[in-house]
Amino acid sequence: MYHLIYVGIDDTDSSSGMCTTYLCAVVMDELKDYGFPIIGYPRLIRLNPFARFKTRGNGAVSFKVLVKSYEEFETVKNIILNRVKQLSHLKEENTNPGVVFYKVKMDDYNLDLDDLDSKLVLPSVLEDYSQNTVRNMVTIEDAERIADSIGAEIYKFKKGRGIIGALAAIGCPLDDSTFELLAYRMPVNYGTKRRIKYETVLEMDQNTYPCTFDNLDEEEGYVAIEPHTPCPILYGIRGETSDCVKKAQSMVKSCEPIERTAIFITNQHTDQHLKKISQISKMDKFKCYIVKGEVAENPHIIEGGHVILKLYDDSGSIECAAYEPTKGFREIFKQLIKGDLIVVYGGIGEKGTLNVEKFKIVKLANAYDAINPLCSCGKRMKSAGKNKGFKCPKCGRKIKDNHKILLEVKRNLKEGFYDVPPSARRHLSKPLIRCQIGKKD
Ligand code: ATP
Repeated sequence: MYHLIYVGIDDTDSSSGMCTTYLCAVVMDELKDYGFPIIGYPRLIRLNPFARFKTRGNGAVSFKVLVKSYEEFETVKNIILNRVKQLSHLKEENTNPGVVFYKVKMDDYNLDLDDLDSKLVLPSVLEDYSQNTVRNMVTIEDAERIADSIGAEIYKFKKGRGIIGALAAIGCPLDDSTFELLAYRMPVNYGTKRRIKYETVLEMDQNTYPCTFDNLDEEEGYVAIEPHTPCPILYGIRGETSDCVKKAQSMVKSCEPIERTAIFITNQHTDQHLKKISQISKMDKFKCYIVKGEVAENPHIIEGGHVILKLYDDSGSIECAAYEPTKGFREIFKQLIKGDLIVVYGGIGEKGTLNVEKFKIVKLANAYDAINPLCSCGKRMKSAGKNKGFKCPKCGRKIKDNHKILLEVKRNLKEGFYDVPPSARRHLSKPLIRCQIGKKD
């Protein structure tokens, strides 16, 4: 009797190294070496970006493997659990791995392995839990309850917090998805400067964009495929299809060997973390939203170069920020004025400020310059003193009226969407190019 085993893994790495995707790639290669078929692409699922104990991008992984007997299932479990034990950074306080196995009997499906992936249906309670883990905070107990209700086996190392993400990575619905190809370094090179031939990244981008995206940030002179942490990844190429990320890899050259490569299907760049909400007052901290409102006052800049504005609707108001790392985006955000009607996309952090990932200008307000009136002699008048009206510097004529003339000025902004550069993009955030080409939008 065939069984399909869904395997979820999370919380194996730390800021000093390792990466759960790498552990997943190692385990999958090992299972393949033992002759166990891996079904479809492994998944890299990004969860709530505000989760408290995340190391970096709050990613969790899952994959599916086929077994023919109870003994094979036990072998598969042992291989996986041993590797997790061996490769996880267990000595780090905040590394608390979790592994989940969810077994499905295969008599309901015919065994055309190529087609199997598209026929699989997961329990709705698991899908709901997973979607909730992308958008909200959940507890280890929540994960245990759901795992128990569907008969999934959980394995906790230390506190085992990783079961939260491991279960979500198995069950996350992917109505929209992208791919990421990850090339891993030889362990001997970990922690050293990555030796990617940057001109080949430029060439790859020119040949494959927009099917691949976020390869570079030309304005910032930033190579976005290269991580800046001591993790095992040499580079990650993001794209719409597995074919285009493979093609892109064939173009990128490096002066160091690649140990292995894995392609993940992922919820990255799909905006799955954002919930559309109709009232500002209903938004909470540590969650991400799409919300419409009117700019309450012209933006101001705070220390560090962050641009802040207040957005309001009938229900309340919220402070929104375009932070310094968003560079040119911040300059655009700064040009918004009181009265502009906008839709913001982003998440609310610890201090209650919404971190803007992109925004849409629905309607621009009229902007005015206040200038002194013209004198009947044709000369622009000057102020005659506080509340004393105006005086003509040429003919000396005075008027008592204090009001300046409002002159409409042209706005440099246009209605439409604006988003952050690749260097500042969050993993889940959907770039405008994806919205424009409209894949499953
Ligand atoms: P990397 O991206 O490098 O793999 P990470 O940022 O994914 O690292 P983890 O080491 O996986 O960080 O730690 C995140 C922890 O938070 C995991 O234990 C995961 O199970 C848990 N977690 C994920 N999402 C939530 C959530 N919505 N609520 C509570 N805990 C969560």
